[in-house]
Amino acid sequence: MTNEKTERRRVLLAEARRIVVKVGSGVLTGEKYEDLDENVVSRIADHVARLTNSGRKVAVVSSGSVSLGAKALGLPRRGLPIPVQQAAAAVGQGRLISLWAKCFGPHGLKVGQVLLTHDDMANRRRFLNSRNTINSLFDFDVIPIINENDTVAVHEIKFGDNDTLSARVTNLMEADLLAILSDVDGLYSADPRLDKSAKKIEYVEEVDEGIFAVAGDSSSRTGLGGMASKVRAAKEASRFGASTIILPGASEEGLKDVIEGRDIGTFFFPHDDPMSSKKHWIEFTLKTYGAIVVDDGAKKALLEKGKSLLASGVVAVEGDFESGEAVEVKGPDGAVFGKGLMNYHSHEMEKIKGCRSSEIENVLGYKFYDEVMHRDDMVLLK
Ligand code: GLU
Repeated sequence: MTNEKTERRRVLLAEARRIVVKVGSGVLTGEKYEDLDENVVSRIADHVARLTNSGRKVAVVSSGSVSLGAKALGLPRRGLPIPVQQAAAAVGQGRLISLWAKCFGPHGLKVGQVLLTHDDMANRRRFLNSRNTINSLFDFDVIPIINENDTVAVHEIKFGDNDTLSARVTNLMEADLLAILSDVDGLYSADPRLDKSAKKIEYVEEVDEGIFAVAGDSSSRTGLGGMASKVRAAKEASRFGASTIILPGASEEGLKDVIEGRDIGTFFFPHDDPMSSKKHWIEFTLKTYGAIVVDDGAKKALLEKGKSLLASGVVAVEGDFESGEAVEVKGPDGAVFGKGLMNYHSHEMEKIKGCRSSEIENVLGYKFYDEVMHRDDMVLLK
């Protein structure tokens, strides 16, 4: 069994063509929050350069702007007010990108800075624009160095941490592998810093509650995301059909060795029924602004017959949403079973709920669509 998994893991890694490499602050600055460790950046650049030179498309999601900026301004890493963190990010991001440029230079590779916010990703047009930009950078053999645009993103609209950002980038660049370089060398059965009997988990077939329980709330000392956010990122990547590997970031052996077949780190297998990019974007990237409660007939039509949602099946409208925004879909019992984009505003939905499609124009004075939520704009939660 294990051999079969080892083989499957090797094939998936060897065949990965588009790779997101997430590098955490803890890897770049070390646990003691020292200055950025140039040797580590240089080694990671070396690994990425080799993969790029073998024809793979690799983007780096790099943290470190806040850490580096805080250091440069003589501030502590933790406990800074948001505007001060944002100022630190403005100072640190420049330093971060110049270091990456310096380390890729000897390989004849240029870097391009891509700063994203959650708002950018939640807007379909900007999401697709960012995808085009990244593809264009790849056409020029430029390595995209991606970070959250920390100087503008305030708490409510943040990705939260760069593990989450890297999972979003997996969909954005249509990657087949997410490599999370961490200051730990994989996922353990318990926190190895506290429990000596902790064992490293080599494979995760499916990220379920048990895996989340194992990941717990442990966090690294410098970065924002702990193991739980890495495991969440792995789940999100897996639903897109990408594998994830968590591996040590600062050691000699790294990404290139893993791709060449060395068994280090923890490997998460991709889901065997991946979602399309758009449905994945709806499920993982979009926040919801309300809910639509449907009757039993509509629930059955959505779940079993592959239909779109019509106004006639809607019994209640919750929240305040615009057309184009995402809402939850609930059954008569209140349990959420779907999520999708609305074709009508919540005020309009209040007026047309329960109506036949042919009545919409009479009620509103106009009709945009027959469906209030189209099948293609909907995900059914399993
Ligand atoms: N975007 C933050 C930075 O560059 C890091 C977020 C994280 O550590 O996950 O400093």
